[in-house]
Amino acid sequence: MGQIARDIARRWPPRHLRAGVVITALLFAPTTSSSAQEATVIRVASLIDGRGGVLRNATVVVEAGRIKSVGQATQGRVSYDFPQLTLLPGLIDTHVHIDTHFGKSGRATPEGETPQESMLYAAENAYAMLNNGFTTTQSIGSPLDRELREAIARGVLPGPRLLTSISPVREDTGTPDQIRQFVRKVVADGADLIKLFASKSIREGGGQTMTGAQIEAACGEAKRLGKRTWVHAHADSAVKAAAVAGCWAVTHGSQATDATLAVLAQRGTFFEPNIGLLLQNYIEHKSQYLGIGNFNEAGFAFMEKGIPVNLEMFRRALKVKALKLLMGTDAGAGAHGQNAREIVYRVQQAGQPAMDAIVGATSLAADSLGLKDMVGSIAPGMEADLIAVDGDPIKDVTALRRVVFVMKGGKVYKNVAAGSQR
Ligand SMILES: [Zn+2]
Repeated sequence: MGQIARDIARRWPPRHLRAGVVITALLFAPTTSSSAQEATVIRVASLIDGRGGVLRNATVVVEAGRIKSVGQATQGRVSYDFPQLTLLPGLIDTHVHIDTHFGKSGRATPEGETPQESMLYAAENAYAMLNNGFTTTQSIGSPLDRELREAIARGVLPGPRLLTSISPVREDTGTPDQIRQFVRKVVADGADLIKLFASKSIREGGGQTMTGAQIEAACGEAKRLGKRTWVHAHADSAVKAAAVAGCWAVTHGSQATDATLAVLAQRGTFFEPNIGLLLQNYIEHKSQYLGIGNFNEAGFAFMEKGIPVNLEMFRRALKVKALKLLMGTDAGAGAHGQNAREIVYRVQQAGQPAMDAIVGATSLAADSLGLKDMVGSIAPGMEADLIAVDGDPIKDVTALRRVVFVMKGGKVYKNVAAGSQR
């Protein structure tokens, strides 16, 4: 387990809460069998383990919030019997903006809201994500995220395990020294990672903004503090500069050339393009965005053109050997809960094999969050973050949008499976 995973395991209280439940049950019901102590047994037609493996007629045993065993079906007691469904690790979206929403005016702005109202919108988004099978996510990022992260971690408010970058580094953050100081402050404020804006928005053409020295300062200082970095970069030069500076992950990459994609692979830099939900969602909700910031007609024209550019780039990225392609959506207002559209699009439009796309949304995504020993695969010892979908996503990837069962940390948050026993 990496330092980050240890930090989170320490900070997140569900395990302690679960321990509390067991102790209470022992104190108050010592003579009856306590359901808190019983194992939960899930039987499914098919299991996708998140690491590329498939098991038919699978049984997963969950105890004390963790996966105890994974095997073939047995005759024993079954808590959840899903003979038509496929079980997967809870999905992971490595890039969302969980606080973004359509406010009271119906538009994508929090104008005129109280902080309390803003927080409730963020909680709604978290619930929508969990309900649609996303049990872990990374918000990149907003100061509101920190309290939401802690609230979800208390184990009552339904939402995905949440990581956040809180506040980003930009070209105007200052000199390399000032940037290092800023990174230390954001880490002290509780950030799980550092976000860099190394290029302009796609709505402004995506040109590089931060210098190589600035990027190096941010990524170097974060690394020194044991934190990951996530670099927003459209321009090819910015993507390459991030990889060369040893940054952890690059997002977007719409203008990346084959040579630069190869550099990402060589350096082991995670790559998180967004091709199937982000721009589509803006265009679907144009009237709710138009007129806010750089969401002007010119910006929308850039975005319309961006969709085929992204698709073409992604098809080239698929050909780059050993490139670590992550599932991330950059979901904003209007997109929360629809995160799996990114996976469906990658498979149906770009031709990514469904299993690779699923790995990119499970074990590989967990690795990119520093949580690979905790979430993202179905194996003994992992947190019991499990979802069941209606159908086989390897044959029909749209099954990922039909999530009928959601368990996180051993707790069932959703079960609308037909004929399920509980
Ligand atoms: Zn973003």
